[in-house]
Amino acid sequence: EPAARAADVWKVYGEGEARVSALRGVSVEFARGRFTAIMGPSGSGKSTLMHCLAGLDSVTRGEVYIGATKLTGLGDAGLTKLRRTQVGFIFQQFNLLPTLTAHENILLPLAIAGRKVDKEWFRTVIDAVGLGDRLDHRPAQLSGGQQQRVACARALVSKPEVIFADEPTGNLDSRTGAEVLGFLRQSVHDFGQTIVMVTHDANAASHADRVVFLADGQIVHDMANPTADGVL
Ligand code: ADP
Ligand code: ADP
Repeated sequence: EPAARAADVWKVYGEGEARVSALRGVSVEFARGRFTAIMGPSGSGKSTLMHCLAGLDSVTRGEVYIGATKLTGLGDAGLTKLRRTQVGFIFQQFNLLPTLTAHENILLPLAIAGRKVDKEWFRTVIDAVGLGDRLDHRPAQLSGGQQQRVACARALVSKPEVIFADEPTGNLDSRTGAEVLGFLRQSVHDFGQTIVMVTHDANAASHADRVVFLADGQIVHDMANPTADGVL
């Protein structure tokens, strides 16, 4: 079974004159251990699709699955639990808590979910993300690239079914962005992590091994990215 799946998903906002069909019958599967970029012009439905897949927004029609779990009909408590246990998030703005150290930020989702830390896995993630002696620094003492690495580690440490990354390089210069994307790609390759990234940046998308294009609420292209395959 895929890590995440949308089946004939429709999303309609508003009513009457204000009615907008943000998604119009989107069906797409995200296989485990793959890194997919979702591209498309502004307003094409990228954020809406990500929010529906991640259980942040309800669908108007159709079905969404994370692993074997069907999201439709889960209810708010069920969706919150699903987001906390099976989904990781990486944001453009990093979204780290300023009063916590990098180390504490990385462990926060596990703490909120009341889950135990697998120390060996934590070590593996920390070593891979390359934060070295910066673990005890607060976000303000870290560069943008380092902050996004902390956010990547935070997403990885709970071993989510899928990580959703929303313009993860939008606040980084191109070199730092490429480093972060290289790390995400490495986590797909080394740990079998599944990542779905929304971006309008073709450079960022070139790090993914598959690119799905949305236009006007529908998938118009879906292709393997030959340049990314076999790079690592
Ligand atoms: P993208 O992420 O590709 O820029 P969005 O998913 O944000 O696209 O938006 C898709 C369409 O849905 C746009 O026409 C947008 O204006 C509309 N839309 C998004 N969110 C809302 C909302 N909360 N209420 C009404 N319309 C919305
Ligand atoms: P909280 O723990 O504040 O109640 P939730 O449990 O609802 O938040 O959210 C779980 C995960 O979903 C968190 O990792 C959070 O960052 C993410 N999240 C919540 N709301 C949004 C949103 N509007 N957009 C993107 N991610 C969100």
